[in-house]
Amino acid sequence: LTILGLESSCDDTAAAIVCQAEGHRPEILSSIVYGQAELHADFGGVVPEIAARAHAEKLDVAVAEALAAAQMTLADLDAVAVTAGPGLIGGVLSGVMCAKGLSAATGLPLVGVNHLAGHALTPRLTDAVAFPYLMLLVSGGHCQYLIVRGPEEFTRLGGTIDDAPGEAFDKTARLLGLAQPGGPAVEADAKTGDPKRFRLPRPLLDRPDCNLSFSGLKTAVLRARDQIVAEKGGLTRQDRADLCAGFQQAVADTLTEKTRRAIRLYIRENPAEPVVAVAGGVAANGTIRAGLQALCQEAGARFLAPPLALCTDNAAMIAYAGMERFRAGARDGMDLAARPRWPLDKTSPALLGSGK
Ligand code: ATP
Ligand code: FE
Repeated sequence: LTILGLESSCDDTAAAIVCQAEGHRPEILSSIVYGQAELHADFGGVVPEIAARAHAEKLDVAVAEALAAAQMTLADLDAVAVTAGPGLIGGVLSGVMCAKGLSAATGLPLVGVNHLAGHALTPRLTDAVAFPYLMLLVSGGHCQYLIVRGPEEFTRLGGTIDDAPGEAFDKTARLLGLAQPGGPAVEADAKTGDPKRFRLPRPLLDRPDCNLSFSGLKTAVLRARDQIVAEKGGLTRQDRADLCAGFQQAVADTLTEKTRRAIRLYIRENPAEPVVAVAGGVAANGTIRAGLQALCQEAGARFLAPPLALCTDNAAMIAYAGMERFRAGARDGMDLAARPRWPLDKTSPALLGSGK
């Protein structure tokens, strides 16, 4: 099977081709990503209208490049998969319209993909992983624990009740005058900082569930910063490094502790070979990774973190998730809808704790 995937739900315009021959591992033949960071840089966040226009301009370029890089034409494909949500509606619509156009012009089957399912199925694209496995999705827009049981079968164990961790990293960086995206900037500064100097909160650890909260942590950093500024007139390099280290450690501790609880729930189901996987840009963080890795070792689970380019938004994961759906017989028609909200777990309330 050879599938073209399209992704345009946030601020990356992406197209990729994934193929899998009977009895072989899936293979990424090409993966093109056009980021929009510089378009939104002046606004301190993603501007939906600008994003949608850029997606509309770049999608067919990305498709042409993905085909060229794979040395293929549309005639070599078996289906077109596209992110149909959740995300910014203008961007999702751009992708869905592009995919429908391709499908109408070529007769290729169309498969709509949930963006979060794309992230959640990535471990099966990169490694031989069997269902069910535990997935921690930690990105700029999302934070949730999922038991992945099948291409379309997910159980949500919990997630953030306010900010996503990436959002907290970005806001903390902004508070300290560091560059965006905040995650890498905070991690770099934290290297020379003392994580114990500031006592920052570990929210919700007193509750037994798998829910998290990050907005109070960011506020605590703001208070600590203002107190130093009031006392000394400004922040030294060391103050900033200590705040970064304290913040990062608090996020890592919270994620590790809640993951411990999620693993407990997951292991109860007696998976033959327990696997805990992470995805999302925050999974790039060394301190967070180390905490999760140590925890998995202790719990006897295999820890999987896909390469960073596949952790953040890309179309290879959409092509692959589309392939899993396609193989299971799923086909969408010209009535495929673009959905701004689309929870993975049909039993969980649509708006509760998705972080977006
Ligand atoms: P989503 O995919 O949920 O729509 P997104 O596109 O913003 O959201 P990603 O591209 O997966 O998310 O990740 C970007 C986020 O990851 C940013 O918030 C960024 O600060 C964070 N991030 C990147 N590298 C690191 C790091 N080393 N440490 C912590 N956070 C990081
Ligand atoms: Fe994403």
